[in-house]
Amino acid sequence: MIDQLSKILPDIKFTPGEQFCWSPSDQTITYAPDQIEADGRWALLHETGHAILGHKTYKTDYELVRLEVEAWEKAKELAASLGLTISEDHVQQCLDSYRDWLHRRSTCPTCGTKTIQKDTSSAYSCFNCHAVWQVSSSRFCRAYRKGQPKPQNVLL
Ligand SMILES: [Zn+2]
Ligand SMILES: [Zn+2]
Repeated sequence: MIDQLSKILPDIKFTPGEQFCWSPSDQTITYAPDQIEADGRWALLHETGHAILGHKTYKTDYELVRLEVEAWEKAKELAASLGLTISEDHVQQCLDSYRDWLHRRSTCPTCGTKTIQKDTSSAYSCFNCHAVWQVSSSRFCRAYRKGQPKPQNVLL
């Protein structure tokens, strides 16, 4: 599958690693070889979707979720061209995990108030208690995997 994708996208590097990730700065897709036979092949197509669409940056977490949806749409087209079908359940599970992550990120770690992110800034601030916080950004990488500790909001 890596060979097939490399032929379609000769300018993109495919590197084995710990998780599935698209890095726009070095035009590299990282993949986890031990997961490629299972759900990993869908993740690989998804990251390739980001690469084909040229996703680089996003201003807000909300926009990130939108780019995630687009990457899955592209991944489905790509799968079809390779004679594969991506499970719709899998896609929805992945998108749910992003929405879930977005929800957690936007919850104030001090008072629990749900807030919205300021435009063009990666930091959140609480209108109730004025706390400002940030979580480690994980652009175009899966936010977390099942069974791994979830990222915590860190106060600034
Ligand atoms: Zn607060
Ligand atoms: Zn993605």
